[in-house]
Amino acid sequence: MEQDTFISTTNIDIHELWNGILEEIAKDISMLSFDVWFKSLEIEDIKNGTLVLSTQSKHTKDLLMKKYKDKIISAAQRIYRAITGVEILVKDDDEMTEVTESAEVTKTKTQARVENEAEGNSAKTRFRFDPKYTFDNFVVGGSNQFACAAAKAVADEPGTKMNPLFIYGGSGLGKTHLLFAIGNYVTEHHPELNVIYTTTYQFVNDFTNALQHNKANEFKQTYNSADILIIDDIQGIINKIQTQEQFFNLFNELYQNGKQIVITSDKQPKELKPLEERLRSRFEWGMIADIGVPDIETRIAILNKKAQIERFNVSREVIEYIAEISPDNVRTMEGYLSRTVFYSNLLKEDIVTISSAREALKNIAKDDSEMIDATKIIDIVCKFYNIKKEDVLARKRTKAIAETRQIAMYLIAEYINMPLESIGNIFGRDHATVIYAKNKVADDIKASKKLEIQINDMKQMIEGK
Ligand code: ADP
Ligand code: MG
Repeated sequence: MEQDTFISTTNIDIHELWNGILEEIAKDISMLSFDVWFKSLEIEDIKNGTLVLSTQSKHTKDLLMKKYKDKIISAAQRIYRAITGVEILVKDDDEMTEVTESAEVTKTKTQARVENEAEGNSAKTRFRFDPKYTFDNFVVGGSNQFACAAAKAVADEPGTKMNPLFIYGGSGLGKTHLLFAIGNYVTEHHPELNVIYTTTYQFVNDFTNALQHNKANEFKQTYNSADILIIDDIQGIINKIQTQEQFFNLFNELYQNGKQIVITSDKQPKELKPLEERLRSRFEWGMIADIGVPDIETRIAILNKKAQIERFNVSREVIEYIAEISPDNVRTMEGYLSRTVFYSNLLKEDIVTISSAREALKNIAKDDSEMIDATKIIDIVCKFYNIKKEDVLARKRTKAIAETRQIAMYLIAEYINMPLESIGNIFGRDHATVIYAKNKVADDIKASKKLEIQINDMKQMIEGK
């Protein structure tokens, strides 16, 4: 773990943390990909800034590391900046019973805690802002002009005007980027000031842990020492009454001492519910700025900037194409650009051509629609047999679950023109398992009229009849 990070993993509940990371990942990818690849992953530990996860299938591990590693890390960093890597273990004892599984987890949890405690409390050291996120690298357009100007004003003269600054807007539109830009700017221009950045998730967690370990005073001292408190994604505080109370006190203390507070949220204050009224009204005291969806010109400019920073050799035509087909989320749009460049590199092109861009992105769309159709089939089969989807996707092996899984594989293979390997991937199995399932179900249908009727019923449901 980096020495000079504000965040320490001391006493962190890694399972809570993992849930938070999962929520972030879910924002970024299709529901089905999420269900298929992430639901069965478990967190084991955080070691030296590396997130240690486990799965029971080598296939799942390989695919995750190949396709989702960066997504996992960036989602993790949005929750917990200190995470810099990910590692996935394969637990290959298939038949592990529930009992040994939970014993295993408890053990790891205790180990994690001891190791983390040994790391000591680094909470007083400074948070290091990723230097990529600066005002210079932030493209200003109609959708974010106001928020960006407000952020600059606050960075220039913290605590004097616009206190608190409350920035709100949808996911992936640049809120955290602006917060980091403030952090980087202040670190450079006012090095004497203590900037504390925290996600609300982190804040809630730190607070809960402080209470549990009788360290409420230290917790207070740390946060009260801020000259600038930056708190990201405040929507995470709704429903958390005790933390709201704590944050209310902190807010007052800092505010009265002329310290700057910057807050982001996915909603404006009046839509944050349930939230204590006195806190909501404080959010409205200063300046409220929204960030909207960038228009096409801004999107093109963002992609150009990104290409320039990453030294991607991409033509104007390709940039325009990506800007046009991307969804609203800037993060996703950047993902499209990276994917396109990656694909073009595979083809050994000198400059990304429009045809390779089309090809690279067509596949994304196709993957997703195939995945969506496959989920639909899995849903139908699971409902039909009243079996939990998670069980079918996980490695559980009771007879009923295994049969349901085989039928789902059989129907997916019937309906969707997808490589058997990919079908296997959905379930964390290899293509041989899919071939076996297909043949077995086909044989069973011949032998059992009842099964034949059931399969026909499910087919009608799949075809929407
Ligand atoms: P949010 O916190 O609103 O979910 P982020 O700040 O994490 O979004 O932004 C997602 C990605 O989009 C980041 O890589 C960020 O640099 C990029 N981004 C968003 N808006 C802009 C912009 N106006 N200029 C440059 N990059 C941007
Ligand atoms: Mg953010």
